Amino acid sequence: MALSVRTIVAVAVLLASAVWLSACGDAPKEERTESGSGTATTAPDEAASEVYKAGEPTFVTIGTGGITGVYYPTGGAIANMVNLKRDKYNIRATVEATGGSVFNINAVIAGDLQFGIAQADRQFQAVHGMAEWQERGPQKKLRAVFSLHPETVTLVAGDDTGIRDIRDLKGKRVNIGNPGSGQHQNSLDALNAAGLGIGDIQAVEVKAVEAIEMLESGTLDAFFYTVGHPSAAILKITRGKRKVRIVPILGVDTLFVLHPYYVPSSINMQYYPGAADAGKTVESFGVKATLVTSSDVPTPIVYALTREVFVNFEAFKAQQPAFAGLTKMGMLQGLSAPIHQGALRYYREAGLQ
Ligand code: GLU
Repeated sequence: MALSVRTIVAVAVLLASAVWLSACGDAPKEERTESGSGTATTAPDEAASEVYKAGEPTFVTIGTGGITGVYYPTGGAIANMVNLKRDKYNIRATVEATGGSVFNINAVIAGDLQFGIAQADRQFQAVHGMAEWQERGPQKKLRAVFSLHPETVTLVAGDDTGIRDIRDLKGKRVNIGNPGSGQHQNSLDALNAAGLGIGDIQAVEVKAVEAIEMLESGTLDAFFYTVGHPSAAILKITRGKRKVRIVPILGVDTLFVLHPYYVPSSINMQYYPGAADAGKTVESFGVKATLVTSSDVPTPIVYALTREVFVNFEAFKAQQPAFAGLTKMGMLQGLSAPIHQGALRYYREAGLQ
């Protein structure tokens, strides 16, 4: 009983992406400008007057993921914190549903989005010109703001498929993720570490939301989804017509040797009472979600967003069940791109850096 109440509360919080927070922390008494350094360029301060002056608001968009993922309400939580101070900053933040990490990084670099949520491994790869960025080389404009919740590479399979181990995927119809997603490379890395190649499975490359429908209707045997927990998407599929289970990803230790950004991770199945393996702990591996921006985004905008999230940390954290383990110091870890000047300004003021 207690579990189902908790679950209902978790889902309610997950779906309430437009929660209007009544209790947010006080802002510091005065705006502070860049401390100390006489070598700072003038651009940020010029931009500051643009942001703070009355008149046309500055619109910023945060790229997220599919609407049933955790990125979408996470973007909503960040936007809420900034929008609560619209009188002060004159910034209007909105969120956009997207194909995920890789899409977001590319859109931020191109200037189509001002912020994006991206897996830490994808941030690392973009900065070093690896994976999707191998041909284009290191993405020098990419900037880190902070890290967010942990995400686990989640392998969901129909209970009737007999898939109980990642190696059982051989010959099966498996969604490895859409090309713009974070999970696309994670699935390939997991298969390789388990001794399987892409040719060993019938690979499908659709978004998580479509994979859920396909698995439920029987046109898919399994799918990979790198996501935080609890997740509305996983809750939906575990409550669907077809019984499903989360399959452990074990015996893949080469992953941790080959890729510095992967860490062992587990899923608390108490979140998903409808799953065939409900109540257990499922072992896998994972990464952190992070917020990224571009060096082209003015310092005061990134400063305002960072400060509002950190000053109102407890209210921010309460917006998402997946944020349960967040700490301020933890949010400064796992970043491989240089930290944006605006975020750095706040971290220095707050004594976090
Ligand atoms: N990790 C996924 C991606 O990068 C998104 C997960 C989510 O939307 O919560 O594509």
